[in-house]
Amino acid sequence: MPELPDITAYLTALQPRVVEQTLESVRIASPLLLRTAVPSIQRVDGKVVRSLRRIGKRIVFCFDEELFLVLHLMIAGRLHWRAVGAKLGGRNHLAAFDFPNGSLVLTEAGTKRRASLYLVQGESALVNLDPGGIEVFSISLDEFKKALTAENRTLKRALTDPRILSGIGNAYSDEILHAAQLSPITQTRKLTDDEWQRLFASTRETLQLWIDRFNCEAEQTFPEKVTAFRPEMAVHGRFNRPCPRCAAPIQRIRFADNETNYCPTCQTDGKVLADRSLSRLLGSDWPRTLDELEALKRK
Ligand SMILES: [Zn+2]
Repeated sequence: MPELPDITAYLTALQPRVVEQTLESVRIASPLLLRTAVPSIQRVDGKVVRSLRRIGKRIVFCFDEELFLVLHLMIAGRLHWRAVGAKLGGRNHLAAFDFPNGSLVLTEAGTKRRASLYLVQGESALVNLDPGGIEVFSISLDEFKKALTAENRTLKRALTDPRILSGIGNAYSDEILHAAQLSPITQTRKLTDDEWQRLFASTRETLQLWIDRFNCEAEQTFPEKVTAFRPEMAVHGRFNRPCPRCAAPIQRIRFADNETNYCPTCQTDGKVLADRSLSRLLGSDWPRTLDELEALKRK
């Protein structure tokens, strides 16, 4: 699923292409995509995109009259910048947003249709689409600690809960925990002061590293290869490969259709966490699927 660094890269690439450009039309090929009926999607036809925003993992196109077009890519949704009037061919093509200088095409791999589009009017309607997680770059260590300990959670769950922190998912939480040298199953209320400092610093540094890396690419070309698996990653998607810090083989805990990766030497005092039994043990505190996690809304 595209996370904060990926969404930031899309915004960087979209800024010079669509801001202050007229959205001539929105073509929707998948009936499941648009989740709102009022205002009608035609309301934005011919309107100028005034600015872009990000809410969690959502991309927001802002128009006059407080109209906001909100796109959530979910796991497999991706954006592509194509020539004017790009054809929507094939079942993976969900929509096209036509501008005078090109078409922004939304695709979704696989058979499940999870990506979603909303058109809302008014800032308060926009707030309703916000799961409520805080932005890690605009908070202090104390605020970070308070948010993550509001409920006693495993670190993995707390970092990836969109109601707690904004924009972090399975991939970057693995990278953050490896950088902080903390176990994914440590409970947030058990962290020492020193560990809090490490976690906070690693969260910001890891995200910043990837944001800078992707922004650099996005300034050159439109991000066409957004993926949760990058060869430069330390642990995520690196099962059995050597840890870049200590060379021990990276381990995994599988759950439903996903897994978390960690280095036992660097993160769990050398312990390999029992895979299946751990998922069972954690029970309610383990996200069974990313969808389930994404579906959580602010209470
Ligand atoms: Zn290691």
